[in-house]
Amino acid sequence: MAVSTNQATSNQTVLDREQDVATLNAVNMVQLHNVTKAYVNQLALSDINLEVKKGEFLFVTGASGSGKSTLLKMLYGEELPTQGEVTVDECNVPRMRGDALSLLRRRIGIVFQDYKLIQQRTVAENVTVVLEAQGYTRKEIQRRLEPTLKLVGLRDKANCFPGQLSGGEQQRVGIARAIVSTPPLILADEPTGNLDPDNSWQIIQIFRKLNAFGATVIITTHDEQLVRRCNHRVVQVCNGKLLTKNI
Ligand code: ADP
Repeated sequence: MAVSTNQATSNQTVLDREQDVATLNAVNMVQLHNVTKAYVNQLALSDINLEVKKGEFLFVTGASGSGKSTLLKMLYGEELPTQGEVTVDECNVPRMRGDALSLLRRRIGIVFQDYKLIQQRTVAENVTVVLEAQGYTRKEIQRRLEPTLKLVGLRDKANCFPGQLSGGEQQRVGIARAIVSTPPLILADEPTGNLDPDNSWQIIQIFRKLNAFGATVIITTHDEQLVRRCNHRVVQVCNGKLLTKNI
């Protein structure tokens, strides 16, 4: 059957567009397209668009309650968008369930403001517990543990318990646990929220080092001073909208 010139042209356009989307997905670690998130009595985010390239370092700022955590939670499937698309490392996150979602989460290191350490386990055990659950061999776990503790400056604290560490040291354990499986994407939700300026700065330096090694890093913070000290891209969540910010 003969294809009219018009039809051929329009097919070509569709193919071109699909190619463009595929190319974009390959370079973007994160893509939010027209994303809205409404809780029962609260519109948290409204029509958000965001692209974060592989290897980028991004700060997400905004007042408490502005929607920063919600944004991060949608990236690892903890919250579902009410509308819109959330793509992480070429995966359509809201559509993922069960094993597929677990596999995606293994490629994301997550750091929390309150560290979430197991108090009865040592530093080394806190860092390796996830690897054990994922079936890594004892040899591979040992191979990863030492350089990870060294990177966060905790090599001499491997046998301490969290209660024996300062807040800054506990957050280093949280980071070590998040990165020990070398995930390409690191999400940190107010990682310096409980720390003094000196410790905050040291923690940010660790994230910058990880970014220099190739990880994509997204950090939420309400610490404007900290953001100004770094020369990274910044977006701000304000009244549920995402604004580009000049530092
Ligand atoms: P931030 O991280 O900037 O402090 P959040 O993303 O935690 O902000 O919250 C954004 C808004 O959504 C807030 O008004 C908060 O009260 C609301 N919110 C967050 N989680 C829930 C939830 N599970 N149920 C209902 N409302 C929520």
